Amino acid sequence: MKAVVLKAGKDKAVRNRHHWIFSGAIRDLPDFEDGEILPVRDAGGELLGHAYFNRKSSITGRMVSFGPGAPLDEVRRSLDRALALRAGLFDPAVTNARRLVNAEGDGLPGLVADLYDDVLVLQVATLGMERLKPLVLDVLTAAVRPRAVVERSDLPARREEGLEEASGPLAGDRVDTVRIVEEGIPFWVDLSGGQKTGFYLDQRESRRLVRRFAAGRKVLNAFSYSGAFSVCALKGGALRADSVDASAAAIGLAQGNFELNGLASDSGVFFTADVFEFLREPALDHDFIILDPPAFAKRRTDVVAACRGYKDINRLALQRVRAPGLLLTFSCSHFVDEGLFQQVVFQAAQEAGRRARILQRHRQAFDHPVNIYHPETAYLKGFLLYVD
Ligand code: SAH
Repeated sequence: MKAVVLKAGKDKAVRNRHHWIFSGAIRDLPDFEDGEILPVRDAGGELLGHAYFNRKSSITGRMVSFGPGAPLDEVRRSLDRALALRAGLFDPAVTNARRLVNAEGDGLPGLVADLYDDVLVLQVATLGMERLKPLVLDVLTAAVRPRAVVERSDLPARREEGLEEASGPLAGDRVDTVRIVEEGIPFWVDLSGGQKTGFYLDQRESRRLVRRFAAGRKVLNAFSYSGAFSVCALKGGALRADSVDASAAAIGLAQGNFELNGLASDSGVFFTADVFEFLREPALDHDFIILDPPAFAKRRTDVVAACRGYKDINRLALQRVRAPGLLLTFSCSHFVDEGLFQQVVFQAAQEAGRRARILQRHRQAFDHPVNIYHPETAYLKGFLLYVD
């Protein structure tokens, strides 16, 4: 039977259950169709597991199973394990939106599945996973019985895989907007035009923190997207929560979420603006600033420029926050790890000439698990700083 054979000494990553196989590690590549699942063997012929392969991708192979098991059975098992991990941890009356599958974090490269109330949203990043989609749909729909399934595979990365971007209904009715509840707070989620699959589920635990620390404060939610941090701040007793985002559509969603929560029109101002410029506005009077920018480093080669960007906004925020105040600052670039991010914030504090203490450290919510064998799945980190 045809198989991919790794070079001698290049099998360590796969033996360590890392999912990615780069072309440099491959000795023999048989004839195959892009997207096909093939056995992976070491130079001595030992079967290490199965991966799907795509010559067009910068990551040639992605392991879907380790060991001798039949790959499709193993994919089913990974889906079952992902569901089992989250079972019983959410009371749907309190929180009915969660990530069901977090790609390599759940041993399923190329697949994200989120559940918004009774609507399942799939995001498929690779050709190999595209071919597994019927199986994925079969297992997930049987388990969660959604009213509808929506695809949000509108990812530029699919080009590299030789795939078109794809989004729209996959099963059931067409659903563009769904109302979720998170920790008792309702939000609208835009499934057709919103960012990611519609909502930043990974920030759930940080939203709880904002609710806890916001009482009596004037909050600036920078990079607000649909205003979730602003709503949580007000629910936590903030005097005001202003939201700023470069996207007018995001600000529209934020206004919708204020209305949904019955928040008074004077409870926050909405700005469609660039945060880098907005933080230079002279009139700012906030004593709690939240910075949750998009990933500034999408590749390893972006890290230096990204750190400059993180330092700039953190310096500005540290200068502008009223003392004694709070700064909740995040980076969601995997390539900027927590140590490096702390160093960047240290430099920003030094340049701003402010005293800053870390009260808490933050990570992605637990339904976005980090696969210990695949550390690239850790991406979100944040610090809550006390500034005086
Ligand atoms: N905090 C949000 C998620 C933020 S995602 C939440 O919890 O839901 C990052 C946001 O930054 C996006 O909404 C994007 O539109 C916005 N953005 C990107 N660059 C920006 C810039 N330079 N200025 C303002 N907003 C920006």
